Amino acid sequence: MPSTAERAAWLRAELTRYAEAYYTHDAPLVPDAEYDRLFRELQAIENEHPELLTLDSPTQRVGAAPLKSLAPVRHRVPMLSIQTETDTTEGGAIAFDNRVRRKLELSADAPAIEYAAELKFDGLAINLRYEQGVLVQAATRGDGEVGEDVTHNVRTIRGIPLRLNARSMPVPGVIEVRGEIYMRRDDFERLNERQRERGEKTFINPRNTAAGAIRQLDPAMSASRPMSFFAYGLGEVADWNFAPTTHAALLDALSKLGLPVSEDRCVAKGAEGLVEFHKQIAARRDALPFDIDGVVYKVNSLALQRELGFRNREPNWAVAHKYPAQEELTELLGIEVQVGRTGAITPVARLKPVFVGGVTVTNATLHNEDELRRKDLRIGDWVIVRRAGDVIPEVVTAVAERRTGAEREFVMPTTCPVCGSHIARGEDEAIARCTGGLFCPAQRKQALLHFAQRRAMDIEGLGDKLVEQLVDGGVVKTPADIYKLGLLALSNLDRMADKSAKNLLEAIEHSKTAPLARFIFALGIRNVGEATAKDLARRFGNIHTLMDADLDALLAVNDVGPIVAQSIVDFFGEPHNREVVEQLLAAGLTLVQETVNTGEGVLAGKTFVLTGTLPNMSRDEASALIEAHGGKVSGSVSKKTSYVLAGSDAGSKLDKARELDVTVIDEDELHKLLST
Ligand code: NAD
Repeated sequence: MPSTAERAAWLRAELTRYAEAYYTHDAPLVPDAEYDRLFRELQAIENEHPELLTLDSPTQRVGAAPLKSLAPVRHRVPMLSIQTETDTTEGGAIAFDNRVRRKLELSADAPAIEYAAELKFDGLAINLRYEQGVLVQAATRGDGEVGEDVTHNVRTIRGIPLRLNARSMPVPGVIEVRGEIYMRRDDFERLNERQRERGEKTFINPRNTAAGAIRQLDPAMSASRPMSFFAYGLGEVADWNFAPTTHAALLDALSKLGLPVSEDRCVAKGAEGLVEFHKQIAARRDALPFDIDGVVYKVNSLALQRELGFRNREPNWAVAHKYPAQEELTELLGIEVQVGRTGAITPVARLKPVFVGGVTVTNATLHNEDELRRKDLRIGDWVIVRRAGDVIPEVVTAVAERRTGAEREFVMPTTCPVCGSHIARGEDEAIARCTGGLFCPAQRKQALLHFAQRRAMDIEGLGDKLVEQLVDGGVVKTPADIYKLGLLALSNLDRMADKSAKNLLEAIEHSKTAPLARFIFALGIRNVGEATAKDLARRFGNIHTLMDADLDALLAVNDVGPIVAQSIVDFFGEPHNREVVEQLLAAGLTLVQETVNTGEGVLAGKTFVLTGTLPNMSRDEASALIEAHGGKVSGSVSKKTSYVLAGSDAGSKLDKARELDVTVIDEDELHKLLST
């Protein structure tokens, strides 16, 4: 057993090493949760044994030394850290309120304290200096005293005004605005998608990607990584004809000056108000378009803030109240492969169960073999798992320095683990596929689920578990077999009550009348999504004409290129697939040509692209409405797009629309178009 002094020395050394990797090189060695655990352990030892506290302890410092390659900037007002409340329950908010009241020597019956509550953005702190309203310098926090000059890169961030807005707020002679530079999740996902397509290594998380991008020497490199900004505080201020008395009023003033300030903030009364805010944001955390690691509470009155003052590296009037970590450390127990609907073989990580992003994760996708190689993951590795927002859990990296030598490399199987067919990988293709087609039970199950899903034949009740039983029991082999099911066959299945069996048969019967487009989509032809299926239905009018169409006829369809056309020809060139279609028709399927999109109506000839969340309609409903009026809905913005219909949290499609000068409308304006 090491002595307490030895443990403290070890913790100091480890934390210093981790902090340097994180702050100076933007390449963390361990997830934040692990760093925070060790940090708290060191703090606890130092509290109990003050004699073990050293001046160079990581608990006494902010950040780490700046990079030598960037010009140093001495902060006129130091940039501090914030005390962290790691009790992720409501106890954290109550403890902070109690501390503040004690420090202010308030009696138990004194009125509740007012707090400004905001999000804790997971990015990096920046100081923006404006002189006479013009951005003259941007600097990172560095070690709190000296940061790095990153003005050249910050200028590439579109959300940051180069000149402050003087219309409704006097512009100060000097103002240093403090805030967070971050990367939106969709921007991050897109960036990683691009890396994958190019066969390059993916980035670990939005925070480190933004931190790395902002500290590049070449602004073009920064500009290629889309970043955003929120203001949350002040550094030096001089000659301002306005004196806010609360933090909330200060944020309003910053917003009037043209700086982005998050709308997700409030003034909360006492511990109760804080608990409520913490709860509300927790419920919305996954739906936010960017990562947060907690919320921040600040005493709202600036006079009280002054009275409370600072301690070491942190103000006494603010606290960060964390949420469960979105990245955690765990062990990679094994790698298995899954077989998808089109035979795609996806390696999946089997993990030692780990609580991350609010859920217990045991599996995570590894995308494809190349990605696995690029990440150099080995069975037995310690790995960092990330689960943020609605994005599926992912193994982002292995902690190479924890390797013992006992780890094993993964070998991709050459035959399908489900049906034994050969696994093939086309030249220039990232994905390997099982060649078994519908002979492979795994592909059959996925194909059936695809066929039955809401957007296809919409057979309610035909889900995972049931399909599994039907296929494994040999009852259903093709979609046509679904229509041969009877009460007897269903009632014999496990856990299938009579009533559910009857409901399912009703749903099957109901699905017999379906629009042609949905049927085409339901067949699961490779590269044929819903939009293409609609185009094909419109063009060919009935299934047999489509089945007999040659490449040229297919290429004449809107948006159908050579790859899609070839997939369709290949699909119907397979006698087995034609037979399934004939059997389905023989089972009594009636395919109706959609009457809605006749190309007539007030929107005829107009193409729409939808993005973001609309206030009163789902995107599906909006698409249906547009199509019912003769308009067309497309997935990507081009010069030919007539309108982009945008809701809140609109993503890159909106940027693209602006770039190409496409008219952007909201839901109200769509209704106006319809009534013209
Ligand atoms: P911090 O990030 O926990 O808190 C202070 C920072 O919060 C400020 O500098 C600011 O950038 C940010 N912030 C976000 N929203 C804010 C708001 N509304 N108001 C005020 N500030 C706001 O503290 P820190 O000292 O920067 O660093 C500690 C963090 O860094 C921890 O989360 C730790 O896990 C992580 N870290 C990780 C490693 C690692 O190896 N993984 C190493 C070092 C530090």
